Amino acid sequence: SKTPVGFIGLGNMGNPMAKNLLKHGYPLVAFDVFPEACKEIQDTGAQIVDSPSDVAEKADRIITMLPSSLNAIDVYTGPNGVLKKVKKGSLLIDSSTIDPAVSKELAKETEKMGAVFMDAPVSGGVGAARSGNLTFMVGGVEQEFDAAKELLSCMGANVVYCGEVGTGQAAKICNNMLLAIGMIGTAEAMNLGIRLGLDPKLLAKILNMSSGRCWSSDTYNPVPGVMEGVPSSNNYQGGFGTTLMTKDLGLAQDSATKTKTPTPLGSLSHQVYRLMCSKGYAQKDFSSVFQFLREEENL
Ligand code: NAD
Repeated sequence: SKTPVGFIGLGNMGNPMAKNLLKHGYPLVAFDVFPEACKEIQDTGAQIVDSPSDVAEKADRIITMLPSSLNAIDVYTGPNGVLKKVKKGSLLIDSSTIDPAVSKELAKETEKMGAVFMDAPVSGGVGAARSGNLTFMVGGVEQEFDAAKELLSCMGANVVYCGEVGTGQAAKICNNMLLAIGMIGTAEAMNLGIRLGLDPKLLAKILNMSSGRCWSSDTYNPVPGVMEGVPSSNNYQGGFGTTLMTKDLGLAQDSATKTKTPTPLGSLSHQVYRLMCSKGYAQKDFSSVFQFLREEENL
């Protein structure tokens, strides 16, 4: 039988990811600071413990899925962190999207304890997390990749080795910068079309058979009623929060500054999402930029 896997961070993404590990027969030891998030996973068969260090005591393979760099630092190196009780030879996989420099730092601290840390952020959203179709971008020591892949392939259709630790984050940050630009662009184009008298469903259909097609137009359309099963048709609930997108755009801007890389649209997108955070959209899915543009136009 399989040895237990630890899972820390049971939110929009962590919840369905953990469930897929359970489905593949891995016993789970799990933790989240939010009790409600623990309860649901417990009901599906996971053992819930009181802290990240308790997870490390019971499992030598651990996956973390946390909001931001600060949460990851806390979960790994805090007073009740994973590294307090990590077993030698453990494999720690962080799937949160965080600063690549933090991933490198956590890898160093983990190595001191005789264990291995890899960054493995994901792309795909909650739908792909549920169906086990995520894309994982993995950074770390190459010899450990197969061991990581064994677990990640239970949750994802694509598991790609990117290079040394932090390179998974680098790939993810670039993807999300492009995603934000694409989403804002899609929302702008859809809004303009609607104001010109086009039916939004018809406009989406045309875009999706034309050169403007992108993931935001054909898989995650931001206009309510155009597609079923996406946040825009559910009052922008669930999905990928505006706060998280703003965080990722900030990471992209930090990296662009460090490498002196021009990213004018990435920078503008960051400011648009930042503005949304301060105008009541923080908790909504990031496709609510469509609603934001409509409201601004009505001022
Ligand atoms: P979320 O906010 O829904 O879930 C995060 C969970 O972590 C919450 O349940 C929270 O209680 C828990 N948490 C926070 N601090 C903790 C701590 N110190 N100890 C234990 N648990 C803690 O976020 P999410 O949407 O699941 O996203 C997680 C990560 O994945 C983020 O970095 C995000 O950028 C990335 N991501 C999200 C999506 C998406 O579509 N939602 C897609 C790809 C990547």
